[in-house]
Amino acid sequence: MSDCLFCDIAAGSIAATKVYETDAVVGFEDINPQAPVHVLFIPREHVASAAELSDAHGDVLVELFAAAAAHAREAGIADRGYRIVTNVGDDAGQTVHHLHLHLVGGRQMMWPPG
Ligand code: AMP
Ligand code: ZN
Repeated sequence: MSDCLFCDIAAGSIAATKVYETDAVVGFEDINPQAPVHVLFIPREHVASAAELSDAHGDVLVELFAAAAAHAREAGIADRGYRIVTNVGDDAGQTVHHLHLHLVGGRQMMWPPG
């Protein structure tokens, strides 16, 4: 166990319903889904948020977005569209301080977001 929930999910020491797993990226179902499809994609490496990214993260960022897009196709929501969002800091509502992309879809999304 570490002091980071998503590091523990990536390591397998905390259970999650994983939908994607490689050496660099893990995708798993959000425990409190906000839409019919709500999956989180994280780098295995601990990065606190998008604000901490550097040039060295280029490959993993591409994989995060590609994995989310592939899952959207597999889940049957790609044609109608979906949202990929990452929260940074308190005002955005970030509660887990390990970078994650939310893939949400399967219903009409609102804009502007709340
Ligand atoms: P954020 O508020 O952007 O930091 O998103 C954190 C997300 O993690 C929320 O949507 C939570 O529902 C989700 N979450 C928290 N704990 C777990 C868990 N054990 N397994 C899966 N998702 C989780
Ligand atoms: Zn972490």
